[in-house]
Amino acid sequence: GVCLNVGCIPSKALLHAARVIAEVEEAESFGISYGSPKLDIERLDEWKGEVVGKLTGGLAGLAKRRKIKVVTGEARFTSAQEIEVGDEKVGFDSCIVAAGSRPVDLPDLPDDDRIVDSTGALQLEGPPKSLLVVGGGIIGLEMACVYDALGTKVSVVELTDTLIPECDRDLVKPLQKRIGERYEAIMLGTEVTGMEAQKSGIKVSFSGEDAPESERYDKVLVAVGRRANGDRLELEATGIEVDDRGVIAVDEHQRTSVENIYAIGDITGEPMLAHRGSYQGIVAAENVAGEDVIYDARSVPAVAYTDPEIAWAGLTESDAKEQEVEYEIGKVPWAASGRALAIERDEGLTKVLTEPGSGRILGAGMVGPNAGELIAEIVHAIEMGSTATDLSLTMHPHPTLSETVRIAAEAAQGIATDIYAPKR
Ligand code: NAD
Repeated sequence: GVCLNVGCIPSKALLHAARVIAEVEEAESFGISYGSPKLDIERLDEWKGEVVGKLTGGLAGLAKRRKIKVVTGEARFTSAQEIEVGDEKVGFDSCIVAAGSRPVDLPDLPDDDRIVDSTGALQLEGPPKSLLVVGGGIIGLEMACVYDALGTKVSVVELTDTLIPECDRDLVKPLQKRIGERYEAIMLGTEVTGMEAQKSGIKVSFSGEDAPESERYDKVLVAVGRRANGDRLELEATGIEVDDRGVIAVDEHQRTSVENIYAIGDITGEPMLAHRGSYQGIVAAENVAGEDVIYDARSVPAVAYTDPEIAWAGLTESDAKEQEVEYEIGKVPWAASGRALAIERDEGLTKVLTEPGSGRILGAGMVGPNAGELIAEIVHAIEMGSTATDLSLTMHPHPTLSETVRIAAEAAQGIATDIYAPKR
């Protein structure tokens, strides 16, 4: 699917390259300089392909060893017991639909290969001199990070008045500060009102308080969300319910409205995240195999693999406020972490939300390098019903960024020694 071929994996390979370039730049502040990078874009693109190739090859090998027959082509349902792939008919007792999602298009875009979606943006070619990213969500900002490192002048336009709208503001702030200093422009609360393909670039018009009337860009990436593919499988032949957004409704067993057909992943709607899809996949497969299993993950972690990374799980602070959920909070600025200082990245923040009285972990968020790795401890804590005390009594290795989780849990209880966060 998308994640491995044209999503998570190739983008992470490119984001790693971006981090290496940025790290070399940053090293100048502590006395190491290598000069500016010499980029072999063709090799970088080839290497990205090799990373993907190792995984796709591995999967093909696993399928073979498990004696799974793989049919390649576009599938259509002909009934609730059969699909057609080209001329081949494949009958089944049970079926798991995992046909994913596709990028949402903006209306009335000119047909021009300088206007790309996330798949197009992953094809490196020569990096453009200027790039406009339409949509300040996770896809847009991750790709912006890659192109910025490759030397492109990046501009971002976002319809709402904030980047990554579903994320807490204090977590977005360090990212916004860093990219605000590096990028050509970040236009918030701004709408793209039109695009015109010209010889010298794509002319984009805007409407918004601080936006220019129009600007020309060498390339435009449209990343304004994804749409489920439920409209592309001729599901009418099965009787499965699909809504007008292409989303297939499933119950907690991952079963659709048709008894023997299950659905998992993006095609079942938000949050459209690979780890949720594969988790649902196990639930569906176990049910197909005759077990009685339900999807009851307590939280779905979210990670923006930007620089700095942002990760959160469970209840966010803005949702807590909106839903009037009472909470206590411990916040640790990474300036208090020896490890963050030693890697020159003290702009980070870790915060943990707990339930008053019980101290149960309700959620957490963090921003900074490796936030995406650090969040797994919180996901486990939420899954286990752990409390702030559980986290603070867990010995964390020193000096690591993971200690900020322990200290935040202590701060939520008013017992932190590493930072001044007195009992409320
Ligand atoms: P998104 O919905 O997360 O963000 C799109 C952004 O575009 C929003 O902030 C929205 O306000 C803005 N927008 C919408 N219309 C606009 C317009 N006309 N002009 C300007 N801005 C506009 O979508 P995405 O970033 O495309 O990601 C799609 C899906 O893929 C999401 O579910 C995301 O979680 C998932 N994804 C996740 C990861 C990850 O976990 N690291 C990476 C890539 C994608």
